[in-house]
Amino acid sequence: MHKDVKKILISEEEIVKRCEELGRQITADYEAKQEAPLLVGLLKGSVPFLAELIKHIDMDIMFDFMDVSSYEGTQSVGNIRVIKDLDSSINGVSILLVEDIVDTGRTLAEVKRMLLNKGAKEVKIVSLLDKPQRRVVDISADYVGFAVPNEFVIGYGLDFDQKYRNLPYVGVLKDELYE
Ligand code: 5GP
Ligand code: MG
Ligand code: MG
Repeated sequence: MHKDVKKILISEEEIVKRCEELGRQITADYEAKQEAPLLVGLLKGSVPFLAELIKHIDMDIMFDFMDVSSYEGTQSVGNIRVIKDLDSSINGVSILLVEDIVDTGRTLAEVKRMLLNKGAKEVKIVSLLDKPQRRVVDISADYVGFAVPNEFVIGYGLDFDQKYRNLPYVGVLKDELYE
């Protein structure tokens, strides 16, 4: 375990097992609809999760990435800046947004609205983690890996000051590091 980590909440083994289950469910759902989704990962937190999840989706999917940032100091929805946009048109495309964690829900609500405005046929969401207690916008992921308590978590893509994204598990940092 990394020296800065206080405790591991979700092990690598549990994450891989959950990705198998999610992959199976996603495959079945989209097979039933007879269409393959375009997976859209939100940089950078979704990268490890997307990389594991796609191994367990048994259909010909494609994936792309977007990077967005919210304007600091504003509480209003409708304020999001696109840092990296998608490579191609999504008109008529079924999108499966891949996220690391749904916290307040603001990011996903904004991105979802933006993608629908650009003509996406539908936008579903898969998130590795969910912190339902922190939600301020009425949005939920269609597929969730794990619910986590109201604690700041790191690892498996999630950062603290851009660090710890490469940890193969989800954990909590030692208290002194947050000070
Ligand atoms: P939301 O718009 O849902 O409030 O924000 C979601 C984003 O905030 C996530 O994609 C993630 O980057 C960041 N975030 C929210 N909660 C946590 C957390 O517990 N740990 C880390 N490392 N990032 C978080
Ligand atoms: Mg994120
Ligand atoms: Mg972050």
